Amino acid sequence: MRDHYDVIVAGGAAAGLSAALILGRSRRSVLVVDAGEPRNAPAEGAHNYLGREGAPPTELYRIGRDEVAAYGVEVVAGRIVATSTIDGDGPDPVGFSVTLDSGAVVTARRLVVASGAVDVLPEVPGLAEQWGRGVVHCPFCHGWEVRDQRIGVLVTTPNGAHHALMFRALSDDVTAFVTDPALVDDTALAGLTARGIRIVTGPVARVLSSGDVLRGVELGSGDVVELDALAAASTVEARVGFLSGLGLVAEDQLMGDVRFGSALQVDAVGQTSVRGVYAAGNVASPMATVIASAAAGTQAGAAVHGDLVQADLAAALAGAGTGAGAGAGAGAGRDSA
Ligand SMILES: Cc1cc2nc3c(=O)[nH]c(=O)nc-3n(C[C@H](O)[C@H](O)[C@H](O)COP(=O)(O)OP(=O)(O)OC[C@H]3O[C@@H](n4cnc5c(N)ncnc54)[C@H](O)[C@@H]3O)c2cc1C
Repeated sequence: MRDHYDVIVAGGAAAGLSAALILGRSRRSVLVVDAGEPRNAPAEGAHNYLGREGAPPTELYRIGRDEVAAYGVEVVAGRIVATSTIDGDGPDPVGFSVTLDSGAVVTARRLVVASGAVDVLPEVPGLAEQWGRGVVHCPFCHGWEVRDQRIGVLVTTPNGAHHALMFRALSDDVTAFVTDPALVDDTALAGLTARGIRIVTGPVARVLSSGDVLRGVELGSGDVVELDALAAASTVEARVGFLSGLGLVAEDQLMGDVRFGSALQVDAVGQTSVRGVYAAGNVASPMATVIASAAAGTQAGAAVHGDLVQADLAAALAGAGTGAGAGAGAGAGRDSA
């Protein structure tokens, strides 16, 4: 690891490695720091990734690490714990300093944040142990795998009825566990009934498993409902704590009136509110799939390269004494990407 790079990428999964790939191919010096906890790690396969449909996430990212290494990108295992700007004479930072959990301090001209998100799960005993296997959240990620099975849907927000309808498209045998009657209005209830979804109202006491296999749920009444799979919604919280030194915080994400997570605000190419800091993937878009996160990483990487090209031009013009290139800071290429 050197002391200084063109770009440091925080996070080395779909978004981060894709940003690194396009930057490496553009001959930028790139350091990827990865804490090794991709959001889909519990899942056996990553689905809807064209060309690698169903590949285990660990395999997908191992291939990605090999691919970026071929272009000189350095990938280190570790966690960025702090970040700060390096200020110049202009209004925009000229670079960024990051501190790793090893204590190492590394600087770069630009930063790509691809640190993903954490799923905060409903607090039902036994649920977390099955997350990503017997307990699923996404009909697109896991729906095919649970097709025609006995599926329960844990309704914990007003969006839960829609969640149940999504899974009903995959199986005739769907039960909605409405944990609080206030969450489902009469129209939604009528819709669930019209689609043949059983409705069980009241608390779910715990998720039952036999060994590694989900068996069903135990209700507050003590009754047991046998299931093959349980769908449950998480709250998807952006991993941004290490960005506080830059003044970057995640904002609430709403679906209707319901808060479903948090994310960094970015523009169409991933630029955050701090010039020179870009973000891609779930940290900026909690609903993005693996391939969408990879695409956002590519977009952000391309924008960073364009930004640096303009900054280099500004510096060259200033050095040539034209005066036209004053300021090679992070905003120098702001219109270029
Ligand atoms: C159980 C489950 C199954 C899923 N299945 C699918 C599926 O089949 N198909 C699909 O398209 N989508 C699926 N998804 C969604 C998928 O997980 C996301 O689309 C994807 O993980 C987003 O990629 P990312 O690169 O933005 O973030 P992540 O995959 O979360 O990667 C972020 C990386 O950054 C690292 N990191 C975090 N903070 C730091 C830090 N401070 N310093 C250094 N590194 C850091 C993390 O350790 C991690 O390695 C699934 C989600 C879940 C929860």
